[in-house]
Amino acid sequence: MEIRYPQYSHCTLCPRECGADRNSGQKGFCGMPPVPVVNIYRLHFGEEPCISGTRGSGTVFFEGCDLGCRFCQNYRISNGATGKGQVCRAEELAGIYMELQEQGAHNINLVTPMHFAPDVADSIRAARAGGLNIPAALNISGYDRTYTIELFEGAADIFLTDFKFYSPELSLAVCGVRDYMQNAVKALDTMVSMAGKPVFGTDGMLVSGVIVRHLMLPGHLFDTKKILDLLLDRYGDGIIISLMNQYTPTKQAISLCGQNKLPAEFAGRVNKEHYNAMCDYLSLSGHPCCYMQMEDASGDDWIPEFRY
Ligand code: SF4
Repeated sequence: MEIRYPQYSHCTLCPRECGADRNSGQKGFCGMPPVPVVNIYRLHFGEEPCISGTRGSGTVFFEGCDLGCRFCQNYRISNGATGKGQVCRAEELAGIYMELQEQGAHNINLVTPMHFAPDVADSIRAARAGGLNIPAALNISGYDRTYTIELFEGAADIFLTDFKFYSPELSLAVCGVRDYMQNAVKALDTMVSMAGKPVFGTDGMLVSGVIVRHLMLPGHLFDTKKILDLLLDRYGDGIIISLMNQYTPTKQAISLCGQNKLPAEFAGRVNKEHYNAMCDYLSLSGHPCCYMQMEDASGDDWIPEFRY
């Protein structure tokens, strides 16, 4: 098989650094081959208003995930179990982005692409050469390596990154890694230095910058508080903060809780008073740019509504 990207031969693209030789058919934790697998692409209206706008965000969902949260809402996509994924080389991905641009997308929104980073970075550059003129956003877990983020230098305009856990015990219980927070801080430092402060167009859409999303987790109010303090102190107005309450226990999460493979609180939802308290905390911080979700944002058929 032709080896396009040597990075897959001893893969250290994510902080798991499992060293799998994906070019020889070996699978690492993410379980993915050395070529991008796309599950679905479409216009998506459920992101923050400065991303979805009125015409939608051109979203491309990649299969596989290097973090593997046990409560994942998209676990059939993230573990590659749908059987519907299509292998797409960089040139084919570029064609998808152009199609989404023609459909009116405000931006290209690449969901969980980092275990395919070399191809995906090249796909954005190929699309730019072919006429892509809308911003490209990486929609990522925050558990990322500086090296891998820097592959997108000059290609990605926007980072939509999660900041999921502060406590090492919590990330260990949910993802099997103790070092989520340390890696997320290093990754976020890199993203902020690459994208700069948020810049909006005259239409209110984000042109460049970093949105940090934190999904509150049931029973973990103080983890959220520590994350907000860290974001406010370290990055100030260099980022947009999006505080989310959409956690919905999947059948899989409830089953794992029953088997003691996930803490029992993940079978429930976020306490509304806890969420409101954190919204108040964020509001009172004076941070200039944040999103919070309306009360009814959780549910299986969730479409988020944000207030700004
Ligand atoms: S991207 Fe996948 S194969 Fe590469 S280090 Fe991470 S988990 Fe391992």
